[in-house]
Amino acid sequence: MARTRNNTLKLKFDSARKLSPAPESKGAAKIKPRYDLFINGKFEKPSNKKYFSTTNPATGEKLSEVADANASDVDKAVKAARVAYEKVWKKMPATERAKYVYRIARMVQERARELAIVETMDGGKPIRESRDFDIPTAANHFFYYAGWADKLEYAFPNRNAKPLGVAGQIIPWNFPLLMAAWKIAPALATGNTVVLKPAETTPLTAMHLAEIIQEADLPPGVVNIITGAGATGAALVKHPDVNKIAFTGSTDVGKIIQRSVADTNKKITLELGGKAPNIIFDDAPIDQAVEGIVNGIFFNQGHVCCAGSRLYVQESVMDEVVRKLKDRMDTLIVGDPMDKNTDIGAINSKQQLDKINEYIKIGINEGYDMYQSNCSLPGRGLFLRPTIFTHVAQSSRIAQEEIFGPVLTIQTFRTDDEVIQKANNNPYGLSAGVWTDKGSKIFNLTTKLRAGVVWANTFNKFDPTSPFGGYKESGYGREGGLHGLSAYISF
Ligand code: ADP
Repeated sequence: MARTRNNTLKLKFDSARKLSPAPESKGAAKIKPRYDLFINGKFEKPSNKKYFSTTNPATGEKLSEVADANASDVDKAVKAARVAYEKVWKKMPATERAKYVYRIARMVQERARELAIVETMDGGKPIRESRDFDIPTAANHFFYYAGWADKLEYAFPNRNAKPLGVAGQIIPWNFPLLMAAWKIAPALATGNTVVLKPAETTPLTAMHLAEIIQEADLPPGVVNIITGAGATGAALVKHPDVNKIAFTGSTDVGKIIQRSVADTNKKITLELGGKAPNIIFDDAPIDQAVEGIVNGIFFNQGHVCCAGSRLYVQESVMDEVVRKLKDRMDTLIVGDPMDKNTDIGAINSKQQLDKINEYIKIGINEGYDMYQSNCSLPGRGLFLRPTIFTHVAQSSRIAQEEIFGPVLTIQTFRTDDEVIQKANNNPYGLSAGVWTDKGSKIFNLTTKLRAGVVWANTFNKFDPTSPFGGYKESGYGREGGLHGLSAYISF
């Protein structure tokens, strides 16, 4: 019986892998050999004349080089943002500000194909994801916040909301353009000006966004985009004339930033790591839940702070869920991110691949059952097979620490109280998922899970109208929706 099923599945998987290649064309996007800093509406060389390369993780090829901004470049960018704030942006009628934000939204839409290609080449994510998720959602954020710009008195009635001033924004490499949109759109809509620093491995869509902002004729200095690594980010955080720091990234760096602003008046929001529980009850629609598990952990190679990386399955359906999950994993196509059939693209950097492999080694050494799909991997580039560990102990490092890759730990539970305890027994609290047929169970869990976002019978759904943010070591402050506006205003 098992043999027949395996043969049938094997046939199905072989035919899935034999899909003809469907590559997106690189030619539809133009990547310049070098990008300078975007300061005061112009592209400027860095003061130390230093540049660093950004490469395609799927091929190892150098794509371009970007400027390495030092403290004096950061200072220039902050000064430009301050002047633009005082002289232009805070005085501009909100209806006018809204038009600029709308214009950026429209231009992101118009250039969506080009941006998707650049995102995929620079970061390694499947083109299907950048095309269907990252870029449209980024445009939606600009549209959504453009709509609020002249309605702040309805958002915060009788409170006379005022902008904060200059916002320093630091973003990670997993959703580069989308994170830039999450940061820039609410800041502009509320009348702040911006200095944004993209992550060092994925700066290219931010530089394309800088071109869009220039073309949109935004007043010079309202948005400045400076590239560099941690030292550039640290200089921005420490700059005395920055009023607000918005950071998305690792908990370790979040703690450094929090310490650095502790004795200042800077406002701060931190969106940090996660280790989300995804909880499957025995009355859940199992096939849909398996899709939700796959989406929860393998979307964007698991480089997702809210990834459903800890799976809790009610004991009575454990065997069924794991069997169906393994079958589904075997159909996933890992490979060329530019191919429209690819499900799992390249790991973003060598450093990240090493880190994930280190955790896989820990799981193996601790004696858990590991399963990896046996799909073929490209001969070059940074790739990893989707991986699960079953019967993992709650105390294991692989169940407690953020791996930020396509690696899932699986545990069982018997009762609601037990799974609530296990789910909350983790330093993070960014998101969670609950799969059940019973509304009452959903309400019971959503009120008891210590997580900023709880998805019910779905996972990894994002919308500009919905606030997003963490509890505990996942940070504080909310982005998205009305909550996202309040992070950029004072009363
Ligand atoms: P990850 O672990 O996901 O790479 P990091 O937290 O290291 O995330 O990086 C997120 C962003 O924070 C990147 O833009 C990075 O350059 C920046 N960064 C790293 N170190 C610092 C620091 N000490 N101060 C400010 N920004 C930093």
